[in-house]
Amino acid sequence: MAAITPAAAEFATGRCYSFPVEKVIPIVPQNRLAIPPLRQDAGLPLADTLGRGLRDLRISVTDRCNFRCTYCMPKEVFNDDYEYLPQTEILTFEEIVRLSRIFASFGIQKIRLTGGEPLMRKGVESLIAQLRAALPTIDITLTTNGSALKAKARALKDAGLSRITVSLDSLDDATFRAMNDVDFPVGKVLESIDAARDAGLGPVKVNMVVKRGANDHHIIDMARHFKGTGHIVRFIEFMDVGSTNGWRMDDVIPSREVVHRIHEAFPCEPWNAHYKGEVAKRWRYLDGGGEFGVISSVTEAFCSTCNRARLSTDGALYTCLFAQQGFDLKSLLRGGQDDVSIRDAIAAVWQHRTDRYSEIRTAETAKARKVEMSFIGG
Ligand code: SF4
Repeated sequence: MAAITPAAAEFATGRCYSFPVEKVIPIVPQNRLAIPPLRQDAGLPLADTLGRGLRDLRISVTDRCNFRCTYCMPKEVFNDDYEYLPQTEILTFEEIVRLSRIFASFGIQKIRLTGGEPLMRKGVESLIAQLRAALPTIDITLTTNGSALKAKARALKDAGLSRITVSLDSLDDATFRAMNDVDFPVGKVLESIDAARDAGLGPVKVNMVVKRGANDHHIIDMARHFKGTGHIVRFIEFMDVGSTNGWRMDDVIPSREVVHRIHEAFPCEPWNAHYKGEVAKRWRYLDGGGEFGVISSVTEAFCSTCNRARLSTDGALYTCLFAQQGFDLKSLLRGGQDDVSIRDAIAAVWQHRTDRYSEIRTAETAKARKVEMSFIGG
């Protein structure tokens, strides 16, 4: 059982801290961290200061999205005046593939395409095909809000996509429309999940961000709907990602409470992880109805096995979802650096990595100006 986090401990003592969160203009980090020196003695395999390797790469292929999920891109901040990255600042497909090759040389096993909404990036199927051609055996997956998936599922599969994750925060249409804040109906996302299954991208992982008072009363409906279908729901604790979602600890439903509620309805038991560092904790239904997962960044931190790097839409390397700044790889790419130099830069960054934000989260850290999730992918 993961050590209980300071945040959860404070919450357990009833000192639920909530703080007024003025709606701030999200930061698009201009100044980047300097690439540290490469430690030649480090040898391989590459490991950070806590002995964690580099297994997964998450790539944000766009900072745009057609939804305005209140916990990620709140409408009042990401409004018509919000300035998205100009095309010239966004990594090209060739640059993404080149960086992915370099990361693959460290033995990464999975690339997850994210955003914003990755299916809004024009030609994303072609990017997947280029990645698949460059990295024939790597696990290529993608996280989408499902709005455009029904039409694209077959093409994504044919391009070489391995699997897909669809975000769906409620089956109740009114609740879902309120949470995506663009009035997008549940039915269309469910049709997309079916289309993904039919295209061979199943079992689909379905991500539900659980927020107290917003959709937690729909946890059982979600479990019931997908139980026995092969699809896997992951219930995600509401997180203080970025600086704009008005996060409060008292809006968090701890995963153990989610599991308790589900167990009352559908008896379940813990199940083994697929691999070390897997984000979701697996639970399986005792009646053979399949499994679900919980992702507990706030109350049961998993930083000790975190082996994920993130590439922002504009080509910066982030070593934590809750980072405030990243390391600029784009200027190395566009500055004529060769692959060896870029590889050394990535290795140096990872060697010096100390991130364990979820283990040290407090009321103060939660207020820090962190990069927006929509900029570096969840
Ligand atoms: S908080 Fe940062 S270090 Fe911890 S698991 Fe999340 S991304 Fe990894």
